[in-house]
Amino acid sequence: MTHSKTFGQVPDLATRLKYCGRLPTLPVVALRLVELAGDETAALDQFAEQITFDPALAGKLLRVANSSFYGHRRTISNLSQAMGLLGLNATIALSLSFSLRECLVTQEHSAGFDTTAYWRRALLTALACRTIAAELDEPQPEDFLFAGLLQDIGVLAMDAMFGEPYAALYRKSLNHKDLLAQEAVRFGFSHAQAGAHLLKIWGLPDRLCEAAWLSHETLMLSHENLTREGGQLPLYVAAAEQIAEAWLQERSTPDALEAAHEGVYRLLAISLEQHRDIISIMVQKIPEMEALFETQLVDPEMIRGVEESARELLAVRNLQLAQESDPALQTQALEARIATLEMQSQRDSLTGLFNRSHLDVTLRQEFERATRERSPLSVAFIDVDRFKAINDTFGHAIGDQVLASVAQRLQNEARQKDMVARYGGEEFVVILTETGTANATTVVQRMLASVRDTPFHTRSGASGTVTFSAGIATHMEGTAYFQSAPALLHAADDALYRAKDRGRECIVVYQQGGKEVQYPVEGSSS
Ligand code: GH3
Ligand code: MG
Ligand code: MG
Repeated sequence: MTHSKTFGQVPDLATRLKYCGRLPTLPVVALRLVELAGDETAALDQFAEQITFDPALAGKLLRVANSSFYGHRRTISNLSQAMGLLGLNATIALSLSFSLRECLVTQEHSAGFDTTAYWRRALLTALACRTIAAELDEPQPEDFLFAGLLQDIGVLAMDAMFGEPYAALYRKSLNHKDLLAQEAVRFGFSHAQAGAHLLKIWGLPDRLCEAAWLSHETLMLSHENLTREGGQLPLYVAAAEQIAEAWLQERSTPDALEAAHEGVYRLLAISLEQHRDIISIMVQKIPEMEALFETQLVDPEMIRGVEESARELLAVRNLQLAQESDPALQTQALEARIATLEMQSQRDSLTGLFNRSHLDVTLRQEFERATRERSPLSVAFIDVDRFKAINDTFGHAIGDQVLASVAQRLQNEARQKDMVARYGGEEFVVILTETGTANATTVVQRMLASVRDTPFHTRSGASGTVTFSAGIATHMEGTAYFQSAPALLHAADDALYRAKDRGRECIVVYQQGGKEVQYPVEGSSS
């Protein structure tokens, strides 16, 4: 990319910076560290030596090494241990970060300059940037902390160059985008460009200058614009800035966070889950950041608000995604899920009766036992009459209630040893062990009477009644014999079919090789 070393060619800016006597300067120790970092032959102890010149700095590095950022179990008690744990890069990045804080405190600003707002924003961006880098497994998260901290350094340069008019603009701008736009109009260049130039003057590596500049130009952040040296740094800084911006809104509403996430997503393509994780890690780390940089970042009430908003946003988005995706596919998935659960639970979720798969297993077992023990086994196949009309008249929800109520009647009239199952839809099967045709018929007649005599009532005040038809088949009674459990069930279904044929609301017994017998129910209309 052509601009990477010159950052937008603004001659007026270069001259102004050159002759501005109030530019922020890095403390001597920091300058020396930058110099050493550029020297490939420099040894680790040369860095350590520089840092010991600034005991406050050394103390802060120790604190970081012992903080939850590193989560080391053993207490780190001296600088060389700390540097060993942090690594050289992190040591430099952190030292520069702390030095920058010093530079800010000691530097003179114009009277109206809102130092607190500036510093809060810088630290939040730094924390967000470090958290993003750690979440995305970047090996040098402190580099990102430092880059985040430097993102807005140009604001200080602008304040140094233009004084009160700039401070007023900074105070009054609605948001960061607005600030950049107004700077360009009023002063001919933005703090993004000023920052990049200042960092160059400080002798910092190009990738940091580039990040300070490019991270403001999110539209230019395409992959061909990123130099190999700078890598993803400008992207991360830009994303971090958006998160900080959302936090610093008057109230961090889900809307503000959503907008921030949209921006972050465009830049980094991270999921809402990752976004929420980043927010909650930031929330955890804030007290430590505040202590290390001696600043109150945000008030605790606001932190809670931000975290809640992030969670809420995720919940709302997940709901939306669920609604947006193909409803048919969803119903299928849901049905598959319910089917699995029912299989596992042996129960039908609507009626609480045993389900089809459990019925199959039990019927097979009982069939084998009956055959082995030569004991009669009866099966009743029950189908609600004209049930479709119930659905059509009252709606599917009432239909469901009626089915559940029919199931309840069947269960109530069943004996202890009978097993009632929902075969599917409005069809039920009763297994009557050690029961011949006569007794089975009695039980099912009782069931039919109970169902017919119990009207259902809808919430809207309507009421109605239902009946059912049933077919009964018996195995191992007299000469009655079936080859298999499915054959027995099939026979019962066959008898049911005849019952429907004969006008419904009745019970038909399957007769092997002969005529079925129809059993009307007392008080029945047919
Ligand atoms: P028939 O007397 O010949 O059995 O008539 P029917 O209307 O009961 O028979 P059909 O098989 O034509 O219709 C059964 C209806 O049962 C159609 C289907 O929408 C409804 N149904 C099946 N399962 C459920 C369910 O779980 N809930 C509700 N509400 N309706 C169901
Ligand atoms: Mg049916
Ligand atoms: Mg039916």
